[in-house]
Amino acid sequence: MAKIHYKTIEEIELIRESSLLVSKTLGEVAKVIAPGVKTIALNKLAEEFIRDNGGVPAFLNYHGFPYSLCISPNDQVVHGFPGQQELKEGDLISVDCGVILNKYYGDSAYTFAIGEVSEEAKKLMRVTQECLVLGVQKAVAGMRTGDIGYAVQEHAEKHGFGVVKELVGHGVGLALHEKPEVPNYGKRGAGTKLEEGMVIAIEPMINAGKANVKFWNDGWTVSTSDGKPSAHYEHTVAVKKGQPDILSTFSYINEILERKK
Ligand code: MG
Ligand code: MG
Repeated sequence: MAKIHYKTIEEIELIRESSLLVSKTLGEVAKVIAPGVKTIALNKLAEEFIRDNGGVPAFLNYHGFPYSLCISPNDQVVHGFPGQQELKEGDLISVDCGVILNKYYGDSAYTFAIGEVSEEAKKLMRVTQECLVLGVQKAVAGMRTGDIGYAVQEHAEKHGFGVVKELVGHGVGLALHEKPEVPNYGKRGAGTKLEEGMVIAIEPMINAGKANVKFWNDGWTVSTSDGKPSAHYEHTVAVKKGQPDILSTFSYINEILERKK
């Protein structure tokens, strides 16, 4: 069993830089994401932006993953392949990005609405973002991973949504996926104790319908079993005393989406 890597203050600052490059890359995606755009074009833009800023796309070649972004539309939950398909009005698109900068990893994801989406999709996006906020609030020294999972699950299920159990958040920093696992479900006071120096990716994956997912035979794509949409938001967070230190940010995305309104 791999051990948890506790980070120094200096390492956390390096992971912050990596996470900010991820956040800026998602901001670049936000600028161009629109009906008619091919998802492979978003992948190209992201890879070029990451490399232009001295980083390396963390997902590219990770266990053989062939792209720099995971792009998962509608009923796809995570790990979808970018491709020739064009985005269309009403799509719900999860874009997940990771970078390596100065040897340290950052990881963040955001689900975009393409034009006007259904009321169900709007509610799913809102509730999943709220799940992320509630989960992140628990990323404080002395709490446990089960406190994060409980907060996410309780909020999602209260709204009648399904919490994906097969995929979980994770430690991050020296590698893309480190210990501990950070499930989006759990019991308060259970799981791994959170301590200063831990950096974790918290990433609720919430389904509009049932929690069940299926794994495609491309080896990567995960989609909902009932074909209903799924949403996914993720932040890289450093555990501190008193309050969490969120290393990634949606501020670049929000700024662009405000301007596009
Ligand atoms: Mg991610
Ligand atoms: Mg992640």
